[in-house]
Amino acid sequence: MLKILTVIGARPQFIKAAVLSRIIKNRSDISEVLLHTGQHYDEKMSDIFFTEMDIPTPKYNLNINGLGHGAMTGQMLQGIEEVLLKEKPDYLLVYGDTNSTIAGALAAKKIHIKVAHVEAGLRSFNMRMPEEINRILTDRISDKLFAPTSTAIENLKREGYDNIGAEVILSGDVMQDAALYYASFSEERSSIVADQKLNKFILATIHRQENTDDPIRLKNIVEAINQINEKIPVVLPLHPRTTGVIQKMGLKLNCIVIPPVGYFDMIELLKKCSLVVTDSGGLQKEAYFFDKNCVTMRDETEWVELVKAGANVLAGADTQKIVAGVEQMLNKKSTFDASLYGGGKAGETIVNSLLK
Ligand code: UDP
Repeated sequence: MLKILTVIGARPQFIKAAVLSRIIKNRSDISEVLLHTGQHYDEKMSDIFFTEMDIPTPKYNLNINGLGHGAMTGQMLQGIEEVLLKEKPDYLLVYGDTNSTIAGALAAKKIHIKVAHVEAGLRSFNMRMPEEINRILTDRISDKLFAPTSTAIENLKREGYDNIGAEVILSGDVMQDAALYYASFSEERSSIVADQKLNKFILATIHRQENTDDPIRLKNIVEAINQINEKIPVVLPLHPRTTGVIQKMGLKLNCIVIPPVGYFDMIELLKKCSLVVTDSGGLQKEAYFFDKNCVTMRDETEWVELVKAGANVLAGADTQKIVAGVEQMLNKKSTFDASLYGGGKAGETIVNSLLK
């Protein structure tokens, strides 16, 4: 039986891990040990996903959080290595681009355990982003690179991945598997739209460090959200990091600010909203999965096919550009192609490839 050890630590990774865990649970030729680094730790950012999405409780929780990049990554590296030496898996599997991702990959590679990277090949070409550094380095030491899009495959080819002995696989995006599966029963599990008495509304999120750690960018974004909210209500499930900085800076949001929500609530908000305004990677795609246009509050995106398809515009952190983007996208009729991200078969493709 093939044994994989999966390292997760942050909200989007719990959602992605739910897809593979559900497939693996029903098979006898592969088993999975889950390790939670503890990067996201509170109820709303972690526990709720395990309960709602029926993800097995991780066998290990390293409880490493609230530290700077160096201390966090270093402690994770040490903790994950200890677990790997004990568990001796055939593969270490990591998702995305967080400190947990690079720590897991590095710990395994150094002791000759094969590394599988889901969401490989994505690039923002902005080396100031911690995520960009994490994903480039993780890709370079991975044995199996599961690319969600053909753009990701092209990025890897350009970087010479045809010639370094790693296997590159076009898997499609596990986020679409998750969105499709959980959307089939989210309505029974969420009452957020009724509870918040929402009718026509825009869904927004702000959490990316390049926005929250830059006072000018954050001030511009808050101003944009307030201006948009004067015309159409904006619902903003706010990440704890953003809440903290906004309070510290004395900024005021006039829209409907709520704590982070669980995945079923998020899917219902996505299904019922008129538009998404976000700096999240995952949410840009989820908007598309639920046939919604998106205004992205970043200067670049890894999901360039959304921009090419005309369903996403990049507005940076410029108040006027964000407001204009919303005006442009609110009633725009875009075409949403369900096959752009693989159509919901990424999980099966990944498991089958690991077993090969
Ligand atoms: N999400 C959620 N509740 C929230 C905010 C986000 O369930 O309050 C989900 C969202 O639907 C997406 C994932 O979390 O699936 C994205 O996480 P995040 O924006 O933190 O990270 P990114 O995708 O930018 O890495």
